[in-house]
Amino acid sequence: MKKFLKLALKIAGLILILALALLAYSFIPMKLDVAADQNGNSFSSTTPSANLPEVKLSLMKAGKMLSQQSFSWRGGKWGETYESGMAAILVEHPQMSFLYDAGFGANVDAHANAMPWLMKKLANYVKEVPAAEQLRQNGIAPESIKTIFISHSHWDHISGLEDFPGAEVRMPSAEMEFIRAHKMPGLIDQMIDKLNVKTFEFTDGPYENFDRSLDLFKDGSIVFVPLPGHTDGSNAMFVNLRSGKRFLFIGDLTWALEGVQLPAERPWMARKLVDYDDAEVRHAIIKVHLLMQKYPDLVVVPAHDRRVHNRVANLPNFER
Ligand SMILES: [Zn+2]
Ligand SMILES: [Zn+2]
Repeated sequence: MKKFLKLALKIAGLILILALALLAYSFIPMKLDVAADQNGNSFSSTTPSANLPEVKLSLMKAGKMLSQQSFSWRGGKWGETYESGMAAILVEHPQMSFLYDAGFGANVDAHANAMPWLMKKLANYVKEVPAAEQLRQNGIAPESIKTIFISHSHWDHISGLEDFPGAEVRMPSAEMEFIRAHKMPGLIDQMIDKLNVKTFEFTDGPYENFDRSLDLFKDGSIVFVPLPGHTDGSNAMFVNLRSGKRFLFIGDLTWALEGVQLPAERPWMARKLVDYDDAEVRHAIIKVHLLMQKYPDLVVVPAHDRRVHNRVANLPNFER
């Protein structure tokens, strides 16, 4: 009996060591294999037109979280803090002003409190001025924002929606179905029926290396493309300015620019906590990576990379 117990303990110890080794391995720097994933990456000839309308763009920093670089992408340094910014993007188009994501809102504590235990432990968040308040401080009535698009429905992107009670919330129908089909962490399940949601489809055919798109005003200035994986309805927004400057907001596809630059995914543990479909995320990362290679001047903005947020005009300044 004693012998059997000893053997069982030895095996259990071995399994534990193996599991820990595997976990450690999942944090080791590793690039994604770009050459192995060229499928669906032919570029359509949709370069922005010369007669783009006068569109302005500004970023509002609305909260931050402190985490670890090593947790943010495979290759991030151990022991190095990563400042993860929450942001709302204000776009002013001649036809309307709208937001892309809402950042931390006035009620963010309740949203953070509704998170599962482990995520709460990892989310060391700091409040900043919510987007609605920043607009007010800059002479823009929050009530004038009638439409808010979201990159996806996670708490750190949607808590600010409550500060715009009259606004229509726009997301791909795939994201709405995703919310309905899954028990999402946070308050979104309670919020969703109170929000004025209007879903959309990517009905405008290929754009760059994406097979579907939505050219919002049919003038080439604002183009949404699907970026599924993190959630089913995750999406990205191109903003093409008259000056020739181009931006691509990629939501949580990667938390840091290195993710799409290297390219490298999140380590296994982070993926298990936040991503719905790893393989789709990898495919989408490579898509954006190839796009960056083709257009070195394209400003790619991960939703949480504060270093990039610092390079984009912040309210009251605008990119034009
Ligand atoms: Zn997310
Ligand atoms: Zn996020």
